[in-house]
Amino acid sequence: MTSQTPSDCLFCKIVAGEIPSDRVAESERSVAFRDISPAAPVHVLVVPRRHEPTVGALAAASGDDLADVFRLAARVAEQEGVADAHRMIVNTGAGAGQTVFHAHVHVLAGAAFTEGSMV
Ligand code: 5GP
Ligand code: ZN
Repeated sequence: MTSQTPSDCLFCKIVAGEIPSDRVAESERSVAFRDISPAAPVHVLVVPRRHEPTVGALAAASGDDLADVFRLAARVAEQEGVADAHRMIVNTGAGAGQTVFHAHVHVLAGAAFTEGSMV
C-alpha cells in the first residue's frame, strides 16, 4: 500500500494550516473540514492530527485517536443537522478508492441513500 511521509502528506498540511480548508470542527486530536469535491450536500472529512496511512493503522497505533475521530465525526453530524441520517465511510487501499493516505472518515448526508444498499 502506498504511504506518504508527513512532509508530503496533503492532510498533514491541512491539519497544520499550510493548505487552506473549510474547517467545521476540531478537537485536541482531530480536525474536520469540508471535502473539496463533495459527493453529497454534506461531505466532511474527519482526520486525526496524527499521521497514519489508514484507519486500521490508526487503530493499531492509538485507540484514543481512533475514538476521537469518530467522536468528532458524530459531533459534525449533529452540527450539520444530520445526526439521524448520515453515513460515515472509510476507504482503505487504492483498490477501494483511497486517494489520500492519511487516515480519514467521510461524513456524508443530504443525498437520497438507498435503504439496504451499502454502496
Ligand atoms: P479518499 O478517496 O482517500 O477516501 O478521500 C480523499 C478525499 O479528499 C476525496 O473525497 C477528495 O475530494 C478530498 N480532497 C482531495 N484533495 C483535497 C483538498 O485539497 N482539500 C479538501 N478539503 N479535500 C480534498
Ligand atoms: Zn498525514
